[in-house]
Amino acid sequence: MTDPKTRSKDAAILVLNAGSSSVKFALFAADTLRPLCRGGIEGIGSRARFGGAAGEQAHLFEGDLLEESNHEAATHWLLDRIRRADGIGLLAAGHRVVHGGPDFSAPVVIDDSVMARLESLIPLAPAHQPHNLAAIRAVTSAWPSLPQIACFDTAFHRAMPRLAQIFAIPHALTDQGFVRYGFHGLSYQHIADVLPGIAGERAMGRVIVAHLGHGASLCALHKGRSVATTMGFTALDGLMMGMRCGAIDAGLVLHLIEQRGMAPAEVSEILNRRSGLLGVSGISNDARTLLVSDDPRAVEALDLFAYRVVREAGSMMAALGGLDAFVFTAGIGERSARIRAAIAQGLAWTGIRLDEARNAADDTRISADDAKTPLYVIPADEELPIARAVISRALPA
Ligand code: ADP
Repeated sequence: MTDPKTRSKDAAILVLNAGSSSVKFALFAADTLRPLCRGGIEGIGSRARFGGAAGEQAHLFEGDLLEESNHEAATHWLLDRIRRADGIGLLAAGHRVVHGGPDFSAPVVIDDSVMARLESLIPLAPAHQPHNLAAIRAVTSAWPSLPQIACFDTAFHRAMPRLAQIFAIPHALTDQGFVRYGFHGLSYQHIADVLPGIAGERAMGRVIVAHLGHGASLCALHKGRSVATTMGFTALDGLMMGMRCGAIDAGLVLHLIEQRGMAPAEVSEILNRRSGLLGVSGISNDARTLLVSDDPRAVEALDLFAYRVVREAGSMMAALGGLDAFVFTAGIGERSARIRAAIAQGLAWTGIRLDEARNAADDTRISADDAKTPLYVIPADEELPIARAVISRALPA
């Protein structure tokens, strides 16, 4: 490991993003935040495979393949290759941690007491938090004195107005932390960071960001800060997603349990893993598969996806009191011209109007020049805001 006091030109920041079935990583040059290498392992739990690495240090990961593995083995495989690299001296590591609970509203330097608090939040995100914490432990065992920073998906939304955070439930439950936390905060942080360079003064106005990937949510930004978001206490709320239902009547959940006699775990499986694009189409959770299908249920699933974005965007606009710009990001948002067009059409009454050629080309600005409200496509990057946080928290100049 490089002495943290000396920043050589190949000194690097490691970023790990451990999901429920994947581990993504990125290495950034510590002085310029230039990405040196990005990649990930997918399919952990079934057939894990290395999805490849891109960037000037991608050669670190060439060669032997990863066989079927669990999270621990996959993370170990990654860290082992980074440790063997001659040209890289790690200065610090940053982690995406899904849940920061009520307390963490900013990135934090990890120590034993922070780890204990993060462990106490596992019940709030049981499918993700344990993997995030396992990645932290794996880095600690590989480089015991390396500074590590936790960056939270929830933190960006902690400054939302109180009314945007609380539910209409007994206040004693609110006081116990049953509030709207919101997620995808690192993605929204990145958009808030880069939007001024793209949209100028409008970036400080009233902006809706649509993060449309496997998971999907909207965030209402005012002056670059979150004032409302569609995900709630969990990442099940809000928009329709690949496999998740999004917002539904809580009474339906109660009915399935109380009247149909379903076990809570069965209802959870339906709402989290058998709903959304997959459930409505009965075909796939992958938008690409549905976009090339002429099965009426595939068409209906995509129509409902766009309709739900339009409906929730109306709610975000009401929270903002208007709209100065709209941003698409993440897999579907960045790459599906057809879904963007359906959403833009549903929002035409707000002054949104697409330029079809720009939309088809996935341009950065896809609205017509004379449209009242500009529409942008900006690639998601959850790793760069983590690297920035590492620099400011662990390696102040
Ligand atoms: P995650 O939320 O896991 O980070 P992504 O941001 O990669 O996911 O988004 C995954 C979604 O993007 C999937 O539904 C996938 O079908 C969709 N997607 C990826 N490429 C395209 C494309 N060219 N056209 C339409 N949808 C796409």
